[in-house]
Amino acid sequence: MTFSFRVVLLLDSKSKEKILEELERIVKNCTKCPLHEGRTNAVFGDGNIDADIMFIGEAPGRNEDLQGKPFVGQAGKLLTEAIESIGLNRSDVYITNVVKCRPPKNRDPTKEEIAACEPYLDKQISIINPSIIVTLGRFAMRYMLNKYNLGSHTISKVRGRIFELHTLDKTIYFIPTYHPAAILYRQGLKFEFQSDFMKIKELLGKIKLKRK
Ligand code: URA
Ligand code: SF4
Repeated sequence: MTFSFRVVLLLDSKSKEKILEELERIVKNCTKCPLHEGRTNAVFGDGNIDADIMFIGEAPGRNEDLQGKPFVGQAGKLLTEAIESIGLNRSDVYITNVVKCRPPKNRDPTKEEIAACEPYLDKQISIINPSIIVTLGRFAMRYMLNKYNLGSHTISKVRGRIFELHTLDKTIYFIPTYHPAAILYRQGLKFEFQSDFMKIKELLGKIKLKRK
């Protein structure tokens, strides 16, 4: 069990919208790391700002860079299908990435780039304040493991595990799963990916029941 302090902003929807718009404007103009040089658009994030669930990916790819929206290519199609398979729409959840600008040729983001960009994700999480955080792939998983001092783990060992994070104001549930692009290349992982989404569904049901 992990107990963490974090900054919480308990905001109504209107205030959230305003602060996120301002943060998005800053991200679109950000030059804190070299990735700004090659971008067409920075990809801030998209979806329901009052969502219970937030999905965190790695970094924009080609289509995302062109459209300025997260997960709109092939991997996005798979993610959308997985979200719909548990009875939700994309518009019910919030989706963003660890790094907001596309790395050249989709290479992995560097440590320095991640460190430069992370504060934006920190702020998005405090503003949106989701109850469930689902990380897609290694980079987003590491972001959460580091943030909450959860040690270092390999994704194949901890995917589908539910980490309960007891913060001052509420319990956050963190579930790591594979990146949908990994499923495209390794169909063998699809069953595990789907079963992780079933866990998300069950957990969401429990959270909603508790609130009643
Ligand atoms: N892969 C990601 O990690 N994020 C996107 O937005 C698209 C593909
Ligand atoms: Fe700024 Fe992040 Fe883009 Fe780097 S990746 S330029 S830190 S928004």
